[in-house]
Amino acid sequence: MAHHAEKITLNPGGTLKVPERPVVLFIEGDGTGPDIWAATQPVLDAAVAKAYGGERQLAWQEVLAGEKAFKETGSYLPEETLDTLRQFRVALKGPLTTPIGGGFRSLNVTLRQVLDLYACIRPVRYYQGVPSPMKEPQKIDMVIFRENTEDVYAGIEWPANSDEARRLIAFLNQELGCSLDGGAAIGIKPMTERCSKRLIRMALKYALEHGRKSLTLMHKGNIMKYTEGAFQNWGYEVALELGEQVVPEAELGRYHGQAPAGKVVLKDRLADNLFQQILLRPEEYAVIATPNLNGDYISDALAAQVGGLGMAPGANIGDGCAIFEATHGSAPKYAGLDKVNPGSLILSGAMLLEYLGWHEAAQRIHQALPRVLAAGEATYDLARQLPGTREISCSQFGQSLIKQMG
Ligand code: NAD
Repeated sequence: MAHHAEKITLNPGGTLKVPERPVVLFIEGDGTGPDIWAATQPVLDAAVAKAYGGERQLAWQEVLAGEKAFKETGSYLPEETLDTLRQFRVALKGPLTTPIGGGFRSLNVTLRQVLDLYACIRPVRYYQGVPSPMKEPQKIDMVIFRENTEDVYAGIEWPANSDEARRLIAFLNQELGCSLDGGAAIGIKPMTERCSKRLIRMALKYALEHGRKSLTLMHKGNIMKYTEGAFQNWGYEVALELGEQVVPEAELGRYHGQAPAGKVVLKDRLADNLFQQILLRPEEYAVIATPNLNGDYISDALAAQVGGLGMAPGANIGDGCAIFEATHGSAPKYAGLDKVNPGSLILSGAMLLEYLGWHEAAQRIHQALPRVLAAGEATYDLARQLPGTREISCSQFGQSLIKQMG
């Protein structure tokens, strides 16, 4: 049955109301963006068709950003694009080039800030057949929720010896008893209860809804007590809001060391320790919530452990608005060659399907991906690391995935 394309809206409780044929926006992206988008769209459409047999369909609508937008409208990020994103709520985005020089702000950062997409979410799991430096990469199955709006990434900093840095140092030394070197560069690390709690709340809700065993608060609160330390304390306060559903690790004794099904164990780990843990005992971690800088580092470290950024999906999500995106850049030297790996954008698309609640369609993609590799086919980046594997193009990789969906 053919349905009309309709807008995704919000239920009164703030959850998504997804029609059978939702309008989903896409931004092709710059450089290799059009190559990976062309390979990705048929995969997502096929996954939906195979899962729901025509009952559901994605109604793709393009919005302009980056070089294509500049050519057509004279602006890299037209106001119309932002309005459309606000209205239609869900988008899939290819990589955007940040032009160097001229003080141009990263479009990716601008999108996150303007739309208040406060959580950067990176699921990290291993697909059989992907080359990995780990002995047992299959033990890694984590989702990272990184705070996206504050911390040292707020961009509040001044160069050494600048007038602003000197004035601030004078204030800190004279008024607040510091003894800073007058020639220091200064950066500010703001972290609020509101932004920390909304991020942790989103991560905890995700863990509960997806039956994940634990949520770990990753922080460096032993050193940065009032910022990162507060992040940990605010995390435990959020847990209290959710009552019996969340069990702090220290109280696990009550449950003989193992939380009952349906409950989430709340852990906290110092950032440096967690970097060891994800190498040595990755199976003990499921969902991680962390401030901006820690999150940036651990997301890439974990992506490397399961085979690198070429296959790492991601999303930036706020309240009722979400942009799913390839986590790598626009790799301009390969633009138009139909060569690069579309895996990151395809898996970001699978995340999008899960966000819509279309898990059966996402599952088709997760199942088919290792079958492509098992059939001895991969794009150049993986093929060169896998002896005996035949190199296929970006579009062939998409087609092969569709074939493997059965
Ligand atoms: P990049 O990720 O574009 O490319 C670095 C190298 O990684 C490439 O030369 C290639 O060898 C490899 N690579 C990247 N994507 C690949 C893929 N899909 N398949 C196989 N190999 C792949 O990083 P860069 O060169 O530092 O950045 C290029 C541009 O992208 C810059 O303008 C940067 O600002 C932008 N960028 C955008 C995003 C984003 O949109 N989220 C993220 C990072 C960088």
